[in-house]
Amino acid sequence: MYGHQDAGRLPASYPQFFERSAGCHVWDSDGNEYIDLMCSWGPVLLGHQHPKVEEAAAAQRARGDCQNGPGPVMVELAELLVERVRHAEWAMFAKNGTDATTTALMVARAATGRRKFLAARGSYHGSAPWCTPRLDGTTPQDRENIILFEYNDIASVTAAADQAGGDLAGVIVTPFRHDAGFDQELADPGFARALRDLCDRRQAALVLDDIRCGLRLNGGGSWEPIGVDPDLSTWSKAIANGYPLSAVLGNDRFRDGASRLFVTGSFWLSAAAMAASVATLHAHQDEGALSQLEHAGNLLRGGLGEQAAAHGLAIRQTGPVQMPYLTFAADTAYERMSLFAGTALENGVYLHPTHNWFLSAAHADRDIQRALEATDRAFRAVRNQYGPG
Ligand SMILES: *Cc1c(COP(=O)(O)O)cnc(C)c1O
Repeated sequence: MYGHQDAGRLPASYPQFFERSAGCHVWDSDGNEYIDLMCSWGPVLLGHQHPKVEEAAAAQRARGDCQNGPGPVMVELAELLVERVRHAEWAMFAKNGTDATTTALMVARAATGRRKFLAARGSYHGSAPWCTPRLDGTTPQDRENIILFEYNDIASVTAAADQAGGDLAGVIVTPFRHDAGFDQELADPGFARALRDLCDRRQAALVLDDIRCGLRLNGGGSWEPIGVDPDLSTWSKAIANGYPLSAVLGNDRFRDGASRLFVTGSFWLSAAAMAASVATLHAHQDEGALSQLEHAGNLLRGGLGEQAAAHGLAIRQTGPVQMPYLTFAADTAYERMSLFAGTALENGVYLHPTHNWFLSAAHADRDIQRALEATDRAFRAVRNQYGPG
């Protein structure tokens, strides 16, 4: 296994193969059923096998999917995204998030004629050689145009920008700090505004990597509520409720740069995923997905907090409720969290010990209650093994 399924990243008891999934439930290849608190690591936003999304994808597939060019649905999807996402005046599509982030950097470089990009240390932007979290198989040259800063630290951004000098093409940043293995940290609005100002002053591109947060935090871009619009934004994961699709959205300043690139892939123009995305965007709004996500998230967070207190355990729950992240204050190497996750798994809840979890709009109150029955046993196991604290 590779990437996030790599040995050592998940406790050994975790299943690696899954047979089927429906709503917020998944079944592994040994026939065990779980409440799914990972949602395929983000893509499943409305629940597995959402009827309207499946119907739209199937109808498009019946007409044609992988053809000599895109279907008209690509225009429909682009128009819908441009309408929903405030900064966007155009859209282009690819398959994976890594395609989108890599393309966004190319757009910025084509538009500015410059090379350097600033990125936050530890932020995940995909698995291409310029950004993959492990250096194996990469060369120093792959990274030589990336300069790191610390998330939420304006002084470190200024220092990184000074290092880039006249060669600054842009800054890429996630809507909040959601690095695996660290408590989540919301963006300081002053930090977001400082990035915007810096990019304006230097005529560089501000790229918001909304791949993980997009559509879970907001109906448009994730920084719209704090009033900071990027020049380019990258989307994937939830935009087609599990169908393979990513997008780069941009404003008119970067339209010409985008139109000059040669970027493509054998499957980038497949119509079924785009039809799934149109249906996902409509269902997101029509079914009130955001308020359902927040409701489920608050229920889960509140329940976990009460349980931990009742067991005398100090925990931290950080980040937005729809993307839960739990750590034990007394942990030094995730020992409590691993036992917690393993016990939750044995009791029918699939969550992760060191990566943020994801909720979907299909998590009904009874599912969260069932999940909380399992987490109560998991907290008890932690307390029995490690004592209170
Ligand atoms: C998952 C993710 C990516 C990469 O997307 P892939 O589809 O896995 O290539 C990039 N940026 C962020 C913030 C992500 O969460």
